[in-house]
Amino acid sequence: LVQLFRPLDLLGFVYRTIRQGLVDMAEMYRLIDAPVEVEDAPGAPALIVKRPSIIFDNVVFGYEPERTILHGLTFEVPAGSHVAIVGPSGAGKSTIARLLFRFYDPQKGRILIDGQDISRVAQQSLRSHIGIVPQDSVLFNDTIGYNIAYGREDASVEDIERASRAASIMPFIERLLDGFETEVGERGLKLSGGEKQRVAIARTLVKDPPILLLDEATSALDSRTEQDILRTLHKVSEHRTTLAIAHRLSTIADADRILVLDHGRLAETGTHRELLRKGELYAEMWARQQAEESEEETAPT
Ligand code: ADP
Ligand code: MG
Repeated sequence: LVQLFRPLDLLGFVYRTIRQGLVDMAEMYRLIDAPVEVEDAPGAPALIVKRPSIIFDNVVFGYEPERTILHGLTFEVPAGSHVAIVGPSGAGKSTIARLLFRFYDPQKGRILIDGQDISRVAQQSLRSHIGIVPQDSVLFNDTIGYNIAYGREDASVEDIERASRAASIMPFIERLLDGFETEVGERGLKLSGGEKQRVAIARTLVKDPPILLLDEATSALDSRTEQDILRTLHKVSEHRTTLAIAHRLSTIADADRILVLDHGRLAETGTHRELLRKGELYAEMWARQQAEESEEETAPT
């Protein structure tokens, strides 16, 4: 009988993960070329999250002093709601994600989570409350189990299995001869884009964060895989405050609120229906994408 799944093997990578010590998600989320160190204030308290609301309060930010990227941005993501940010490339969408994860501090204004200014709390506690699924997830040259456990030192075997199931990657892992101990990356198995995103989702779920940050999490996938992953994300984002940055508008049409960002300013906000009815920027973007999609469908292959 082939043992498809060997729990004892799991202990190996869990142990290695613990030994690795302090885990920095910033390293994982390669949003920035040269990370700027943001220092904790001496004795900064931990972020305490009971109701995970997010508030951007008049946030002004630029990477360089002479070039402002966000021009006094104000919005709220109520606890448990799903808010999407859309807008042209270069509008500042990923910058919002970087500020929320505190790779940088705003030059003016504040960012609050559950009423606490994130620049005043310990970074590690801030980041432990936010799960990120980026566009292209990075996998380590290690086992698939290590890749899922990464991000939480004290993850148990059960945590890892539960997360893998919720991310719908468990059937795939069970089919592998070495299960969670299968090496991935250059040294081993090559994962498809969709499988990689599932590993990233499982990794995020091991953290079990109250806040989810999706930065074009499905935009690098073909449209069928995108639909699959979107269904999974939909399920795992239930009961979590979710900020989803999207390129394809059809992926966020059901958000509680959509923020349309243009040149670092909110051009319009509303639900999908409201924005369509308005007939401005969002409606134009929607019409353009619909036309492109129907073109793709009818194009000879
Ligand atoms: P989006 O995600 O909406 O496409 P970004 O938030 O990534 O846009 O970028 C907004 C603007 O900030 C762009 O003009 C981009 O060139 C600039 N920018 C992004 N990252 C940096 C950086 N590390 N240093 C300087 N400028 C940057
Ligand atoms: Mg971006």
